[in-house]
Amino acid sequence: MRKPHWIMKEHLCGQIEYVCSRCGAAFDNAWEECPECGVKMKKVKYDPILVEEYEMLDILLGDDEDDW
Ligand SMILES: [Zn+2]
Repeated sequence: MRKPHWIMKEHLCGQIEYVCSRCGAAFDNAWEECPECGVKMKKVKYDPILVEEYEMLDILLGDDEDDW
């Protein structure tokens, strides 16, 4: 079983987001408990997820669909 933790995401624009590993809610701060599902957080895990790239991929895919 994985312990609940914050997944720290850094956007290319410098904005930092903490995402609950349990419910997926995102916040500006790493709270002791998730305000959404109330789980107690053990740690913050820096996960250099390329948020912008996912968004860009989405946009690209969306554009492709729009083109057709
Ligand atoms: Zn949560």
